[in-house]
Amino acid sequence: SYRKGGYHAVRIGDPFASGRYIAQRKLGWGQFSTVWLAYDTHSAKYVALKIQKSAQQFAQAALHEIDVLCSIADGDPSNSKCVVRLIDHFKHTGPNGQHLCMVLEFLGDSLLQLIRFNRYKGIELNKVREICKCVLIALDYLHRELGIIHTDLKPENILLLSTIDPSRDPIKSGLLTPILERPEGGNLNGGSAYIENKMKRRAKRAVATISSRRDSMGGQSSKPPRCLDGIDMRCKVVDFGNACWADKRFAEEIQTRQYRAPEVILLSGYTFSVDMWSFACIVFELATGDMMFAPKTGEGFSEDEDHLALMMELLGKMPRKIAVGGARSKDFFDRHGDLKRIRRLKYLPLDRLLVNKYKFAETDAREFMEFLSPLLDFAPEKRPTALQCLQHPWLNLRSSDGQSNVDAGMSKLKI
Ligand code: ATP
Ligand code: MG
Ligand code: MG
Repeated sequence: SYRKGGYHAVRIGDPFASGRYIAQRKLGWGQFSTVWLAYDTHSAKYVALKIQKSAQQFAQAALHEIDVLCSIADGDPSNSKCVVRLIDHFKHTGPNGQHLCMVLEFLGDSLLQLIRFNRYKGIELNKVREICKCVLIALDYLHRELGIIHTDLKPENILLLSTIDPSRDPIKSGLLTPILERPEGGNLNGGSAYIENKMKRRAKRAVATISSRRDSMGGQSSKPPRCLDGIDMRCKVVDFGNACWADKRFAEEIQTRQYRAPEVILLSGYTFSVDMWSFACIVFELATGDMMFAPKTGEGFSEDEDHLALMMELLGKMPRKIAVGGARSKDFFDRHGDLKRIRRLKYLPLDRLLVNKYKFAETDAREFMEFLSPLLDFAPEKRPTALQCLQHPWLNLRSSDGQSNVDAGMSKLKI
């Protein structure tokens, strides 16, 4: 990818924007860019420098992302809306062409790394609540004030805030979120190849989320979850490369598979509530360590069909009107609203799953389900908005136990 039209090769110490930014080390990469820790000589702070590939389509995508990030920054002068801040942007010409560069505030590890750090045991509910508040503030801002749909919410795209003074080298000072392990290879955030492998491995484990048609192993590590005491669970939403304005949508197929809403699979049209669906999937994953839905292709059925089946096993049968209402409905459902190729579903409601598989205490499970299940309504217009969620009593409850949910439930069982 380091050729004409591709990534720009960076050496430590390289200057950007006429010497304002000095590259320090690589933070991560994606399909579109590499991201570098850089020192901003104007502000004397560390920043994240996202250097886009140079080919036309990548430049186009970067211009769009800059456009979105500019409206985000304009509407939030005090930088309090839990969304990553664009500090600057410029063009940089190198041997592979002209690269658009975005200078972003420097953030910490992603929620995926947090889940992994905690050995997939689930983050304690009090901490999950803190994370929820941040993400909901971000979503309320994007949706209600700006009319923006993120369309790719997932644990990788929510980054923890650095707790280290931004004028000190975050890595030399003991890392920005000092708790989290580094992935192999020493990259702070891993990048998408790492994430992709991770996703594959996680998907394997996560099938057991629901008592599914394919009996499979849970595969949680036998080691106990780690203590996350004293870690400030504030976070921000990042990666606006796929974001769109609700009145200017480009793509029909949006969202990363596991976080994709049913109306996207069915092509029934979508709006802000697709982000609320993904949000619910993320919250479940934080609390249990497993993906809520990890569909797979099987013998005689597609990944989409498996996905719809998993949704119905957990949430109940999809109302016929919704099932048959999308442009792709006929590919999956008969006219009665039953799946054509997956005939037997094993229903297991969310609260039962939380108690049986994840050993939640009954009260925790019931309260958690009351928060989560309205977000997973098959009817998109019935899902609560981010603002309505922010007013939900669950966010202000306090679980007494500092242990992970899984373990807390276990110890109660023993008693
Ligand atoms: P994708 O293929 O996911 O669209 P992309 O090329 O658009 O990727 P990003 O996802 O924005 O790039 O960033 C790549 C990686 O760099 C992220 O996964 C994250 O680990 C890291 N990163 C991005 N922004 C920041 C930031 N502000 N602070 C710290 N690290 C960041
Ligand atoms: Mg990304
Ligand atoms: Mg992107």
